[in-house]
Amino acid sequence: MKVYQQYINGEFRDAESKEQFEVLNPFTEKVIAMAPKGGARDAALALEAASSAQKSWAAKSCIERAGYLKKMAEIIRANRDMLAQTLAEEQAKILPLAQVEIDATAEYFDYYAGWARKYEGEVIQSDNPKENILLYRQPIGVVVGVCPWNFPFFVMARKVAPSLLTGCTIVLKPSSETPNTTFEFAKLISSIGLPKGVLNFVSGGGSTLGDALVRSPQVGLVTLTGSVETGQRIISASAENITKTSLELGGKAPVIICADCDMDMAVKAVVDSRIIFSGQVCNCAERVYVEAEVYDEFMGKLTKAMSDVTYGDPFADPAPCMSSQINKSQLIKIEEMVAKAKAQGAEVVVGGARGDDQPTGFFYKPTLLANCTQDMEIIRNEIFGPVLPVVKVANFDEALDLSNDCEFGLTSSVFTTNITKMMRAINELKFGETYVNRSHFEAIQGFHAGWRKSGIGGADGKHGLFEYLQTHVAYIQY
Ligand code: NAP
Repeated sequence: MKVYQQYINGEFRDAESKEQFEVLNPFTEKVIAMAPKGGARDAALALEAASSAQKSWAAKSCIERAGYLKKMAEIIRANRDMLAQTLAEEQAKILPLAQVEIDATAEYFDYYAGWARKYEGEVIQSDNPKENILLYRQPIGVVVGVCPWNFPFFVMARKVAPSLLTGCTIVLKPSSETPNTTFEFAKLISSIGLPKGVLNFVSGGGSTLGDALVRSPQVGLVTLTGSVETGQRIISASAENITKTSLELGGKAPVIICADCDMDMAVKAVVDSRIIFSGQVCNCAERVYVEAEVYDEFMGKLTKAMSDVTYGDPFADPAPCMSSQINKSQLIKIEEMVAKAKAQGAEVVVGGARGDDQPTGFFYKPTLLANCTQDMEIIRNEIFGPVLPVVKVANFDEALDLSNDCEFGLTSSVFTTNITKMMRAINELKFGETYVNRSHFEAIQGFHAGWRKSGIGGADGKHGLFEYLQTHVAYIQY
């Protein structure tokens, strides 16, 4: 069994309390590692290290800082197998998907390294003669990054890469469910010559260590990827110091199936986007609105496709389509939501029960629910599991209205060959992202940002980089 340590100020150390917590393999339900149970004193040590290192880190040229990101990308690629193995083991992600995440993480470091010579300030026209107005973009300072369990390695890079490139330093806390891959990365990067304190990894409870990090006046930006509830707690904790927050929270992505769509392509995209990582992805298809005239045809094809979804050991070769849920409480939450939907009139067409045929793990069967209605909890709240609820709608206008009738606003999609419907969906759907005729997955050069309760600010691309920079305007007369 592995025993991890925190990485603070360039050194590996136990929690100040010496306490540890267990990390489970969700598929085997066995303890696979012990991680430090950091608390307020660990938060203070890591923040002090990040604060002390920030000035000299920001003084380095951007291209020099980018060099460290490139080294991180190289070291990830060189250790791809070990990292993918660790990731698949700590969260029951099927191995091929874990490999995709490791590759995407290396790409992410390379992508942001490429911004070193690209981001710029501005020269603004002055009203006065002999005056220049210059707008600088400067690092926001110390960043606190708080990560979820579903893409622990990729989301780590989403916070570390833009921080380090812009001259910020960072203290990053992985989820208590999945600290292993992050700590393996800490071991790897400890030999690349990064100045002490620039990058710190701590672990421990969200309400203890996490809260202490977020409340500190030393912090310039808190970036969380997680649930709405944690986002709300972080907003109130950061209110005291008016600390900037960037929040990527839950989703409830609608899918609109128009009568004129390429039906086979739509069915494949919807199923892929629902079952990826056992339905535990924020941008997954979470509810489907189908135009009445093709409802029966679509449901027939969807039933076949959902029935064909396999599940099992994440390391099996060939790999199943999906594996276990992350833990028992997620499994119970999904089970309760389906039970409630059934009681409200939903019909279980496929699945609708635990995957008890597996020897261990927290399996929920790929599930398709018909006859769903807008008032059901399963249509209004995030499921975060392999359950696809479907609503029949009279027409496209109703589909748009019901899609927008939602507290969340992360991603959405439409399947149509009609250009007017495409353009109406793009203009009328009130979501941070709309995918047209493809499954739900964003690009690193885009901007992943939620509307309403799905978040504040966002990640990726140029706009994601700007989250880590603050403006400074100089008025110069000569
Ligand atoms: P979570 O329970 O909110 O936890 C996220 C992180 O916040 C964990 O590291 C957690 O620590 C920490 N935390 C909890 N309470 C805290 C507090 N009071 N102060 C500071 N940190 C605190 O979310 P999750 O269950 O890991 O992730 C699933 C959720 O994330 C879903 O809702 C999903 O939609 C969302 N998500 C969104 C995106 C996006 O891009 N919008 C991407 C991925 C996931 P502990 O683990 O120690 O509790």
